[in-house]
Amino acid sequence: MHFIELKMNTDVFASRHIGITQKDLNPMFETIGVDNMEQLIQETIPDDIRLKEPLNLPQGISEHEFLTHVQELADKNKVFKSYIGLGYHESLTPSVIKRNILENPGWYTAYTPYQAEIAQGRLEALLNFQTMVSDLTGMELANASLLDESTAAAEAMTMLFDVRSRQQKKEGVVKFFVSEEILPQTLSLLQTRSNPIGIELVVGNHETFDHGSDFYGAILQYPGKHGQVDDYAEFVQKAKANDIKVAVAADILSLVMLTAPGEWGVDVVVGTTQRFGIPLGYGGPHAGFFATKEDYKRSIPGRIIGVTKDTDGNPGLRMALQTREQHIKRDKATSNICTAQVLLAVMAGMYAVYHGPEGLKYIANKVHDRSKILSDFLSEVGFEQLNKVYFDTLKFRVRDVKKLREITEASGINLNYIDEETVSVSINEAFSKDDLKHLVDCFMKSQDVKSDKTFETSTTQILPESLQRKTPFLEHEVFNSYHSETELMRYIKKLERKDLALNHSMISLGSCTMKLNAASEMLPLSSAKWGNIHPFVPLDQAQGYQAMLKELESQLNVITGFAGTSLQPNSGAQGEYAGLMTIKAYHESRGENHRNICIIPASAHGTNPASAVMAGMKVVVTKTDEHGNIDVTDLEEKVQLHSDNLAALMVTYPSTHGVFESSIKQITQLIHENGGQVYMDGANMNAQVGLTNPATIGADVCHLNLHKTFAIPHGGGGPGVGPICVAEQLKPFLPTNPVVATGGDQAITAISAAPWGSALACLISYGYIKMLGTEGLTEATKIAILNANYIKDRLKGKFDVLYTGERGRAAHEMIIDCRPFKAHGIEVTDIAKRLMDYGFHAPTVSFPVAGTIMIEPTESESLAELNRFCGAMISIREEIDEASANEPNNVLKNAPHTLAMITSDDWEYPYSRQKAAFPLPYVAENKFWPSIRRTDEAFGDRNLICTCTPIEAYAEA
Ligand SMILES: *Cc1c(COP(=O)(O)O)cnc(C)c1O
Repeated sequence: MHFIELKMNTDVFASRHIGITQKDLNPMFETIGVDNMEQLIQETIPDDIRLKEPLNLPQGISEHEFLTHVQELADKNKVFKSYIGLGYHESLTPSVIKRNILENPGWYTAYTPYQAEIAQGRLEALLNFQTMVSDLTGMELANASLLDESTAAAEAMTMLFDVRSRQQKKEGVVKFFVSEEILPQTLSLLQTRSNPIGIELVVGNHETFDHGSDFYGAILQYPGKHGQVDDYAEFVQKAKANDIKVAVAADILSLVMLTAPGEWGVDVVVGTTQRFGIPLGYGGPHAGFFATKEDYKRSIPGRIIGVTKDTDGNPGLRMALQTREQHIKRDKATSNICTAQVLLAVMAGMYAVYHGPEGLKYIANKVHDRSKILSDFLSEVGFEQLNKVYFDTLKFRVRDVKKLREITEASGINLNYIDEETVSVSINEAFSKDDLKHLVDCFMKSQDVKSDKTFETSTTQILPESLQRKTPFLEHEVFNSYHSETELMRYIKKLERKDLALNHSMISLGSCTMKLNAASEMLPLSSAKWGNIHPFVPLDQAQGYQAMLKELESQLNVITGFAGTSLQPNSGAQGEYAGLMTIKAYHESRGENHRNICIIPASAHGTNPASAVMAGMKVVVTKTDEHGNIDVTDLEEKVQLHSDNLAALMVTYPSTHGVFESSIKQITQLIHENGGQVYMDGANMNAQVGLTNPATIGADVCHLNLHKTFAIPHGGGGPGVGPICVAEQLKPFLPTNPVVATGGDQAITAISAAPWGSALACLISYGYIKMLGTEGLTEATKIAILNANYIKDRLKGKFDVLYTGERGRAAHEMIIDCRPFKAHGIEVTDIAKRLMDYGFHAPTVSFPVAGTIMIEPTESESLAELNRFCGAMISIREEIDEASANEPNNVLKNAPHTLAMITSDDWEYPYSRQKAAFPLPYVAENKFWPSIRRTDEAFGDRNLICTCTPIEAYAEA
């Protein structure tokens, strides 16, 4: 064990990333009954899939070496002034937000707020985001983010398809109108997503669109892709009269000045909040938004934060209407989104909190005014400006685009070069007077004109009356209180303190791999040399990125054993969809279009069947046997039955039951013999890296959740990066992008808006692999397996582990059965909530088996922390024994206990305050107080409020 021998060598990153030390090993081996690590691994992973050679990757480098290296790479990126627009604009991240959120593990290491009582901070921040989006778009409700603008547009198209009138469904109305003003990457995504489910896209001019009865919906871009702002009121009116639903993709900053689409009566408004203080990051991560009407609340994709009350009737927040999410709906789902963009949504919401309505107006006016000055000036010196009505984007006719481009690029400026004679220029928040001068000089030089005219504020009114926003927005107190840095800093801290994140204690969420997100991995994200690069710049300006992304692709190829990788997908679920679409393209390339059956085990994550349906496949569920493994006999039957039409098997490995199934090779072979391809859900890759890999088990494609196995933080529910890695035969079909080509030579259309997805976040995984190196990566996997088996054996006799491998071992996670405690009146939720009193976040509850919890400690935790957790679980087990079904007034049912309860003058419980709040000695030392009592889920769903409505309105409900 390399890293452990070198424990005193502080250069070895593995010894910082991994929480277990040399001296911990023997006691741990003793607890689980093995002599050494190799024996444990042998008993855990089937022999026939073990790798024979170490990963062909370099040795790890130190943190210092990495930071030096990444700086050298950064220096290869050229930070130009980018006025390219097309949905991405340079923005100014307020330093107070950058330092207190983006760079703060209290925010970025949190999990998705399923445990509402210890997540009120980010829930409030997301409610602010929803309110901001609803207000600016003029819609009734908004979700808590989507992956980017283009996928949000695709979600609008599919949601409106799903909610077509009964008549339309009966008549098979399947046409969706797409304005030719739509952003190119959005069009590409609409193509990808429409095809498999039978939607027919018709691209055209909105002014000549006939509103025919064969259309169910339409999407418009506001302002248009090159900046023209049109009044869509009449279009929407006609559409409504013809039962055509309308979605609008809108620029969030422009809505400060422009009439909100909601006022025209549109059905959905989508877009991105990138320009609200989020770095460009060469494409992402950024928070997309989705706003709609109350009528569609049960169909809206993604998560919605809602208001409810707790046990004492006090207001509290939680994720609302979860029954409409894919993990419940499975193959009935119309969206597969799981991980979204929470951290970025939190930041964008805070940007609105910090600036407030007046600050946003100032910024929007500044951007608009500078656009006007630029337009006036250049018009006067002879350039024709083609947008009659605009907000921030101008379109110029120029004599020699090539010459202009040479001049601008030599001056460090990027424009959007539309064709031989037109360019567009998008002005942003960071555009200074000096920038204006440089830009104007470039234009003049390109046509040999000179002018000594000064820049004057333009008094012309560009926006017609009907397009001027008159409705107020962001009137709620939260947007009008925290405009000084001190106040915002304290507001952010106030919210942060309500949330339990990895900087407090272990978050042992099975399947989610909440490991260390090391500071050295995160630091480069703060640099403008990575942050301030537009996704559509010429490749020679992004050489640092290109080198990093290429190397990450090849690192992932080595780790998975595959031939090619696409970094485009922004989440695991999006990776699933991308992978299935490459399989589909592969079958089609062989003339086997009819192959459309996707077999999925019953234990699969809900995103699997949801993704299969979105890819146009039919889901066939295969059973699991009593040991939790795929029932091979049942699988054989299903494969035989569907042999002619078999497209794919989706399989999670090791399984969601926490087991390395020994029949895996037999299973993948069976699929291949019957003409299918094997998709491996890579969420559990943390149990494989360096020991086995997807290629070895016989898979053809997998996604990886870089935000699980490869150290990107969960950010409270996103960002994510979900690359797909594929075998040789699928490589030609890896996805492309319409602006910057990526992928294979028979590439499928776009899976996400940006060519390399969330490129900025990829730096984290790149650093993780680079610093751990071959040995560190493999060591991490072994310790992850060791830690899981240690917990399993520490809890032996107290809790039953539902499934193990043939030799009694867990993989890197295990399921604990809580159903037997029903006899004491105790539900799995009670255990989850009681863990909060002990300072722990609950493990995964009721996935993949209802009434159970799934524990995954990861390699980053120390033995001391594992012991604290086991101590808490054992203590809870004793409390369960004391509980009685006839006396529900017990310490578990009343959990979690808040500070208000403990300090109240009344104490009406049959146990002590000490037992309630400080059940074990270590707790008092580092007490975490849940900020509310148990939330009432049903009440919140019945009285859905999901914006920061004044509290009086809530009281009336
Ligand atoms: C997390 C997870 C997914 C979905 O990944 P996202 O990144 O949240 O979209 C799919 N399958 C399994 C088994 C998972 O644990």
